[in-house]
Amino acid sequence: MPTSSGKALKLIVTGGAGYVGSVCAARLLEAGHEVVVVDDLSTGHADAVPEGARLVEGDAADATAATLRKGAFDGVLHFAAKSLVGESMQDPGKYWRGNVFTAIRLLDAMREHGAPRLVFSSTAATYGEPEKSPIPETAPTRPTNTYGATKLAIDHAITSYANAHGLAAVSLRYFNVAGAYGRYGERHATETHLIPIVLQVATGDRAQVQIYGDDYPTEDRTAIRDYIHVTDLADAHLLALGRAKPGEHLIYNLGNGTGFSVRQVIETCREVTGHAIPAVVAPRRAGDPAILVAASDKAREELGWKPERADLHGIVTDAWRFTRELTARQP
Ligand code: UDP
Repeated sequence: MPTSSGKALKLIVTGGAGYVGSVCAARLLEAGHEVVVVDDLSTGHADAVPEGARLVEGDAADATAATLRKGAFDGVLHFAAKSLVGESMQDPGKYWRGNVFTAIRLLDAMREHGAPRLVFSSTAATYGEPEKSPIPETAPTRPTNTYGATKLAIDHAITSYANAHGLAAVSLRYFNVAGAYGRYGERHATETHLIPIVLQVATGDRAQVQIYGDDYPTEDRTAIRDYIHVTDLADAHLLALGRAKPGEHLIYNLGNGTGFSVRQVIETCREVTGHAIPAVVAPRRAGDPAILVAASDKAREELGWKPERADLHGIVTDAWRFTRELTARQP
């Protein structure tokens, strides 16, 4: 279990009632840090906020500003965001306002109240269709969807604030986050991600899974992604907090460096669940690159990060356990 710097920090976690935010908040608490979760519960769940964290319900910028006004904090981990690629193409204003405008207001609040550190949830979607694989942080950033464009815009804003105002900032560019940690896992009202969708077929909540495109230039003709366990991802945030330096904006890719095709993921889910999981081929999803695999050497070298749950079978096993527990809990 990594610790950030040895010293207990007082932190705000925006989006801490969501999937990655709740796992990260739980790991921060276990490492001895003090956590206040700010979440408007628009997509998160109050019962996903870990015990030991105080929940402030509200807008990521306004409620963070109000919290900072009441007491000094060592930093903010900013997870709260709109994150549906399809929706971002249909309703871009929701993403530019909800992601970018909110982030700028958050940066201003942090500056005004002297919160020194920021760790930001960025994404592989900032790169768009890659020229080479695996993707290093030096790759061109040409997002193919509005979601990725808004996250990239925030990354640029963070760089400016770090340069001008001495903010100590780290952006972590996630590849495909999956798996679960204890009672914290993925539960979206609108589910678009492959692994939870496939597992919903195994629970009987869906009849079949659609494979979006079998005409990609890959071995089995389906798209390849780099699946990273949510706990490994969360632990990188703790390390990032320790590495953040005033006036610097560091950017790290987080993935395992191994790609799995849609068909391989479905096959692994069949092995783990023992369910036949019917799959049908459907057209490609707009804006989906063929292959997204991370080069995470920089995170390994500079953060000392090492994914410990890189095995896809293990990632799916954890997601499946969480899915079954969630199904059992629901009326
Ligand atoms: N995918 C699929 N069927 C689904 C959901 C996703 O074939 O029902 C594919 C999707 O086109 C992509 C991969 O699975 O190639 C991973 O998609 P996901 O939405 O999980 O993550 P993304 O890579 O888009 O962030």
